[in-house]
Amino acid sequence: MRNADSDASPASAPPSPGADRPRRGLRPSRTDVERWVGEIVSGVGADRSPELGRERAEALSRVLHDEAIRQIVCEGARAIKQARTGSRVTVSRNLFIPLTNLCRNRCTYCTFAKLPDSAEAHTYTVDEVAEVIRGGVATGCIEALMCLGDKPEIAYRSYREMLATRGLSSTTELLLEACRRTLEVGMLPHTNAGILSKEEMAALRPFNASMGLMLETTSRRLREKGMPHFHAPDKEPARRIAMHEEAGELKIPFTTGMLLGIGENDVERVDTLLTIRDLALRHGHVQEAIIQPFHPKPDTKMRDVPPLSDDEVVSWVALARLILPPEVHLQAPPNLGSDMLPRLIAAGVDDWGGVSPVTIDFINPEAPWPALRRLRDETVAAGFELFERGPVYPEWILGRPDFFDPQMRALLPRYANDEGYAQRANDQSDEEAA
Ligand code: SF4
Repeated sequence: MRNADSDASPASAPPSPGADRPRRGLRPSRTDVERWVGEIVSGVGADRSPELGRERAEALSRVLHDEAIRQIVCEGARAIKQARTGSRVTVSRNLFIPLTNLCRNRCTYCTFAKLPDSAEAHTYTVDEVAEVIRGGVATGCIEALMCLGDKPEIAYRSYREMLATRGLSSTTELLLEACRRTLEVGMLPHTNAGILSKEEMAALRPFNASMGLMLETTSRRLREKGMPHFHAPDKEPARRIAMHEEAGELKIPFTTGMLLGIGENDVERVDTLLTIRDLALRHGHVQEAIIQPFHPKPDTKMRDVPPLSDDEVVSWVALARLILPPEVHLQAPPNLGSDMLPRLIAAGVDDWGGVSPVTIDFINPEAPWPALRRLRDETVAAGFELFERGPVYPEWILGRPDFFDPQMRALLPRYANDEGYAQRANDQSDEEAA
């Protein structure tokens, strides 16, 4: 790979000292943008395809408000999607299990995390997990998303005591039991438990088809006093990047992504995308990147922060497609842009992520999942076809055996057809599952 910028800096390098501030600089013309996008698109599939470098990516970010330029960027992104996955768009029929909604961090936009004395605080027992999983099996779900707060045992004595009464000393031990039981009952776990050590990920790997951690942002500015991540030590970008590195060293199929609209600026967004690209290229473990727009919630400090406009979301989805390696699937949560699904596909999205017929999105409870039937209809209306996958994409199941523990490698074919797409014993139609 090579950078298309003449003076692009390596994506792995930390942002320059000025990167935390929006910068004035080059504003490319439409002709420039057509040429830059054309270079990226024409290189897709080549052995040494060109990359969009930092200088050009930042320059593009300055002109995305121009509708004509946004159109050029979206057409390029859609062409990349078409070259890699043709007319196919994927979705994973899943369950969302918030194993514990206690968290040691306090991000100012979050309503997921509860305090231990809250009536809504809950930590699942393994039997409760099994009960939910049975409901998932009955509705044809394959992926069990274990999504939980970051290590509440560090912050709360009562939580430590509760774990002890169950014979456990950490959330990771609870996770291990939950994943084991999930496999026994008949679904495939995908764990997103915040920051995990390399040893913890290694212990979880045999019991997880894939794992994930949103990089969210590389902005250190958002960790400063008064900013959304000031009380969130696990949101330190260096920690999150280190976990991505370690997941790559362990060969774990990994999900990451960028959170849009929590106070980061355009330079920081570009840096976040370049960092994901660098991690993906060096380790080959990033199977998908989520571009997730922030939704303000009542009862949070950020309730009055306006969400990004649809145009902005579409712009950054498309720019992400131009920046990220074509092999990395691009996902947008359909419940956070339910009125703009055709626009998201037209901007290069090739995956809708996990959509559950059983459980809500506990991170964004105000945003219901679209029914699978509607998702299929809208995908088809946009000129594409919807295929169901499990937590791992087909090409990983079929062609990347070294990314799975032998136990998981043996299990995956039970949940996949010959092409690697989802297959279950009790296959259900969208209507039945919706
Ligand atoms: S780390 Fe996640 S769960 Fe914890 S407070 Fe932040 S957003 Fe909420």
